Order: sequence, then C-alpha cells, then structure tokens
Amino acid sequence: MNNSREAVHTETDAALRTQALESLLVEKGLLTTDIIDGVVQKYEQDVGPLNGAKVVARAWIDPDYKRRLLEDGTAAIAELGFGDAHGSKIVVLENTPSVHHVVVCTLCSCYPWSVLGLPPSWYKSYAYRSRVVREPRVVLREFDLELPDSVEIRVWDSNSDLRYMVLPERPAGTENHSEEQLVALVTRDSMIGVAKIESPTK
Ligand code: FE
Repeated sequence: MNNSREAVHTETDAALRTQALESLLVEKGLLTTDIIDGVVQKYEQDVGPLNGAKVVARAWIDPDYKRRLLEDGTAAIAELGFGDAHGSKIVVLENTPSVHHVVVCTLCSCYPWSVLGLPPSWYKSYAYRSRVVREPRVVLREFDLELPDSVEIRVWDSNSDLRYMVLPERPAGTENHSEEQLVALVTRDSMIGVAKIESPTK
C-alpha cells in the first residue's frame, strides 16, 4: 500500500470502515492486497474519462449507436469494450437544448467508474451532494454553467446498482471533426452534467 492511500485512509470513518473490511478480507484469504492495489491503480491511472469520451463521440457520429446507448447504456458501452466489473447498470441521459441532466450520488459517491474513472473530490463532498438536488441552478452557476430559465434541469441520484452518465450536446462547429477530434473535446464534467462542451470555434 502506498503513502497516498494511507493518507486517504485517515480521512473519514467510511474510509476506516473500508480499511477494516479490507484487512478482514485479506486475513480470511478472500482477497490479497495486491489485487486491491491493482484495482485502485487501474482506476487511478488506466481508466479515466477517456472511455466515456469515446462513448460520447461514437454516439455523436453514429445515430444507431446513440439510439442503442440511450436504450441500454450498459450494453452499448460494452460494445466499445468498457464495462463495470461490479456489474452495475449504466443509464445514459441525453442533454438537449431544452433539458439538462446532472448526476449526483446523494448517499455517498456512486459513479460510473468504468467510463469516467475515479470521481472528483467535489463529487463526493457533502456540499455538492446535498445542494445540487435542492438548488441545481445555483450549483451549476458555481461551476460557471449558466442555464437559461427555459432549460429544464433534471437531477439524477446514482446508487450502487444504477449509475448515470450524461451524453452532452455536440458543440456547434464540429460538423467536420473526425471521431478522434471529437473525443478530445469531451470533458469529464460534461459527462457528469456540470459543464457544457464549448464550441471549438468560439
Ligand atoms: Fe454512492
């Protein structure tokens, strides 16, 4: 176990409970610390929001893929080779000019790891979890996302079995972009719903 993980473990009761559980599983021979460290390293270093960006770019260029993605996110994401090792379902929500989706886990920090990597610390904060439900427009403004009153905001509460990912709007001025160029435009925050994707011509 490296130092950064030890530092994290001192932070909260939840982390202490996790550590106790981890110790117990290791002691019982059900897990090894190597396996645990491998999983953490995988999500810290190998799986980032890039997987999600590939899903979004494919949906933008391929209407059939987009339809499948919105119908059954888990299956369509698996088509691109990404999936959740824990088997939780992913539902993809499409942002449009009139409806804006934003994702939270009010209870803890459930997040679609397989497509977005590890959640940012603000996603896990009590302030975000409690406020985005009550006053989403205000919270989004704090993320520098000012939405007109005509745009309906829908907040989705993730849990351990069902996790949400936002399909952001394709920005103007990208009609001639390649799939690879589109991937590079997609941000993590746009897939959580706290940002839009800027037009590259702006
Ligand atoms: Fe959670």
